[in-house]
Amino acid sequence: MVHGECGLCGLFRPLCDSHLLPRAVYLVLRSSKEPKPDPVFIYDERHGHTSRQLKIPLLCEKCETRFRTGGEDWVLANYSRADGSFRLRDVLKAVEPIYSHDDFALYSTDKVQEIDREALIYFAASIFWRAAVRTWKLLPYSSGIHITLGPYEKPLRRYLLHELPFPDNMAIYVRIWSYDNLMALASPPEGHAEQG
Ligand SMILES: [Zn+2]
Repeated sequence: MVHGECGLCGLFRPLCDSHLLPRAVYLVLRSSKEPKPDPVFIYDERHGHTSRQLKIPLLCEKCETRFRTGGEDWVLANYSRADGSFRLRDVLKAVEPIYSHDDFALYSTDKVQEIDREALIYFAASIFWRAAVRTWKLLPYSSGIHITLGPYEKPLRRYLLHELPFPDNMAIYVRIWSYDNLMALASPPEGHAEQG
């Protein structure tokens, strides 16, 4: 194990091989039906199969556990699985949308007990934060995945440490694939600026 400063709590500790996207996601992306079961990556105008995962020594064990219990465990128990099940979507199907149009529906989940909004938000926030504090490379020669959160990076870190509430002027919304046919697809965070 590499020793170093934990990216989240800042303490000098043995560092885990931390993932940008949870390791379990790669299992969903593997196809048992294909001769090459490894996920296909499309990045930097390159594509191919790879068993590599986006991971670097970033977090101490305590902060890994913080991320896991704060959001990842709940998300992984409720997201779309390789067997086609998707508990989060099933729960939403029983909820009346506050707006719907064609194949789009908008839900407020604050009264839906089966949906742990705090876990969803914490999980998503942790992924964006991870993408902002390091550059994540799938292949050594790629430019890597990195976003800039500017003045929001520090308050987001303190939110993830449970020191502050979710930062003002930030928002997270969650989109759920509504069709029965699930695409086994994962895309890491991307940055995009409009009007500065
Ligand atoms: Zn830590």
